[in-house]
Amino acid sequence: MKTYRNYINGKPVASQGDEALEVINPSTGAVVSRVPESTDADLDAALDAAHAAQPAWAKRPAIERANLLRQISAKLRENVGPLARTIVEEQGKTVGLAEVEVNFTADYIDYMAEWARRIEGEIIPSDRPGESIFLFREPFGVVGGILPWNFPFFLVARKMAPALVCGNAIVLKPSEETPNNAFEFARLIAGTDLPPGLVNIVSGRGAGVGKALAGSNRIGLISFTGSVNTGSAIMAAAAKNITRVNLELGGKAPAIVLDDADLDLAVTAVKNSRIINSGQVCNCAERVYVHEKVAAEFTEKLAKAMAAARCGDPLADTGVDYGPMINKAGFDKVDGLVRRAVGEGAQVVTGGGRADVAAGGHYFQPTVLAGCRHDMEIIRHETFGPVAPVVAVSGLEEAVALANDSEYGLTSSVYTRNLNAAMHACRALRFGETYVNRENFEAIQGYHAGWRKSGIGGADGKHGLHEFLQTHVVYLQA
Ligand code: NAD
Repeated sequence: MKTYRNYINGKPVASQGDEALEVINPSTGAVVSRVPESTDADLDAALDAAHAAQPAWAKRPAIERANLLRQISAKLRENVGPLARTIVEEQGKTVGLAEVEVNFTADYIDYMAEWARRIEGEIIPSDRPGESIFLFREPFGVVGGILPWNFPFFLVARKMAPALVCGNAIVLKPSEETPNNAFEFARLIAGTDLPPGLVNIVSGRGAGVGKALAGSNRIGLISFTGSVNTGSAIMAAAAKNITRVNLELGGKAPAIVLDDADLDLAVTAVKNSRIINSGQVCNCAERVYVHEKVAAEFTEKLAKAMAAARCGDPLADTGVDYGPMINKAGFDKVDGLVRRAVGEGAQVVTGGGRADVAAGGHYFQPTVLAGCRHDMEIIRHETFGPVAPVVAVSGLEEAVALANDSEYGLTSSVYTRNLNAAMHACRALRFGETYVNRENFEAIQGYHAGWRKSGIGGADGKHGLHEFLQTHVVYLQA
């Protein structure tokens, strides 16, 4: 069994406390590592290191910062296999998906490095003769990042890369479910020329070191990805210092399938949404509104496609389509939602409960529920599992109205061959993202930002980069 230490000031550092957390392989239930349950003193040490390193970092030309980021992405590409294995071992996704995650993370770092020469200010015309108004974009100083477990490796970079290229230092707290990959990431960073102290990683529980980081008066920004409830707790912790928050929260993405849609394309996209990472993806279709004329045909095709998906321990059998739920609580949540939906009148077309996998984890069958209604809990709450609930609707107007009637506003999708219907849906859907006739997967250069309870601010692209910068306006009378 491996033992990890915190990563502070460029090296592994033992916790100043005695407590440790066990990290479990969700596919088997076996303990894979022990990591620190970090204390306030550990967090202070990480913040000290970040504050010591950041001023000199911010003074360097951005292109030098970018070149050091590229050293990190090169290290990732040299280590795809072992990194993917670490991710699979503690998170339970397939090896193929973990490899995609590592390569995508390297691409993401390179993309953010490309911004180095484009972190531009503005010159604003003045009302006064002889005056110039300059708007500079500057780093916060030290920022905090708190990560979820579902794409844990990518999330390290989604916070770290824009933070660093903009001239910040960062203190990260990975999820207690998946800290190992963050420490392996750190081990590779230690082998680059990145000055120590710019990236620090402390592990521990959310209610402990997570809350302390969000409530620290030594950070200028807390960037968080995770659930709505935790986002709310983080805002509350940040409120006492008026710390800026950047929140990427949960979703309940609607997929709208109209009667003129390419049904095979829609079936494949929805099926992939529910199977990838065992359905534990914030942006993926979680509820399907299908035109009543094609609802029976769509549901039958979807059930056939879902039933063909095979789950199991991804390290023992690289041929599986998906792995276990992250933990028992995740399984129980999905199971409870399905049971209550059935109790409220939904029909199980395929699946419906625990998958028969002998590996020791908590596996859920690929499941399709027909006859769902918009008022059902399974249509209103994030499921985060391999379950596709289908609601039949009379047409686009009803579908859009039901889709919008949600506390969540992260992503949405629509399937139609009619350009007018597609444009109408895009204008009427009140979500941060809409995908038309394609799978739910955001681009590095886009902007991933939720409406309503799905978040504040966003990530990726130019706008995501700007989340890690604050403005300084100078009025120069000369
Ligand atoms: P979570 O909210 O349970 O935990 C996320 C992180 O917050 C963990 O590191 C946890 O330790 C920490 N935390 C918990 N309580 C805290 C507190 N009081 N103060 C500070 N930190 C605390 O989320 P999760 O289960 O790890 O991730 C799944 C959720 O993340 C889903 O809702 C999913 O939709 C969402 N998610 C959103 C996006 C996005 O881009 N919008 C991306 C991935 C995941």
